[in-house]
Amino acid sequence: MAVAAGPSSPPLRLPLHLQERLASGLELRRRGYRSRFAPSPTGPLHRGNLRTALIGWLEARLRRGAWLLRIDDLDGPRNRPGAEVSILEDLRWLGLHWDGPVVRQSAHRGVYATVLSALRQAGRLYPCRCSRRLLADVSAPHGALAVYPGHCRNGPPLWGPQTGRLPSWRLCLEPGVLGWQERCGPDGHQDGHAEVGDVVLRRADGVVAYHLATAVDELLMGISEVVRGEDLWPSTGAQVAVMAALGADPPSYAHVPLWRDGQGERLSKREGAEGLAGLRRRGLDPPGVIGELAASLDLVPPGSRLSAQDLVEGLSLEGLQGCLSRGEGVKA
Ligand code: GLU
Ligand code: ZN
Repeated sequence: MAVAAGPSSPPLRLPLHLQERLASGLELRRRGYRSRFAPSPTGPLHRGNLRTALIGWLEARLRRGAWLLRIDDLDGPRNRPGAEVSILEDLRWLGLHWDGPVVRQSAHRGVYATVLSALRQAGRLYPCRCSRRLLADVSAPHGALAVYPGHCRNGPPLWGPQTGRLPSWRLCLEPGVLGWQERCGPDGHQDGHAEVGDVVLRRADGVVAYHLATAVDELLMGISEVVRGEDLWPSTGAQVAVMAALGADPPSYAHVPLWRDGQGERLSKREGAEGLAGLRRRGLDPPGVIGELAASLDLVPPGSRLSAQDLVEGLSLEGLQGCLSRGEGVKA
């Protein structure tokens, strides 16, 4: 597969074994519905994550597709010992059984390295040595940098260490709109230069960045539909750009509303440390938790108690879609 990336870039040359893996992922995706739940093992799941998992599981079962579990474990320093085990336990306890083996991003490091070097050889990446401090200074008004202003875009291609530090690797984005099909709200689009910018694909500490790993894995795993929290909507354009660089169209996305408490605070903030184990200790059982999650989506009356299997048996795809399109979440 030699993929033309634009008038100025040479085609991307991927080794044959990787071309074959990508082609078989695309073939799986053509054959039917495949979605994934992709938690990071940074702590226990809370009810907000579990609700997103439940929505994905329900959609996969109603579409008679596959629901895969991927552990996004690349960011070593943020991983917590025991988190993966508790994630698997909680999903099983709730009856949210996944299909096939657990996929770990750490097992794909070789693939990411191959993709990164192909992108680099094709002139699609550049080294960036901007400090966090510099980026924070140029970003207005709250100090949070939305779009990288491209300082290093035309700098010298020095990839080695300088004053003991390696550069990060940024994707050189072409101008244009990055679009995707959205099942939870209007179709998504972001302007490449104005809203996405030249995102980092390999961090200065050598860790493969989330956008690269996620985009590659959606393709390798043959994901046809992504279900994830709406906080990841703004990340989608960058992932679409990586897939385009690999010559592939993006999957379809459902960015589902996050569960907020009465004060509008995201549950992750309040419940992050406690997780399901805490609810279990307070005597909640699986039908109680599934009932609570489903009631928060207006799928069942408050106070209902039922298993995940009973919930899916009483539900139609239209019913689930209706509840998603009622989500009043913030998009963009
Ligand atoms: N691992 C990411 C997280 O837990 C989610 C990745 C995704 O669904 O794209 O926030
Ligand atoms: Zn820079």
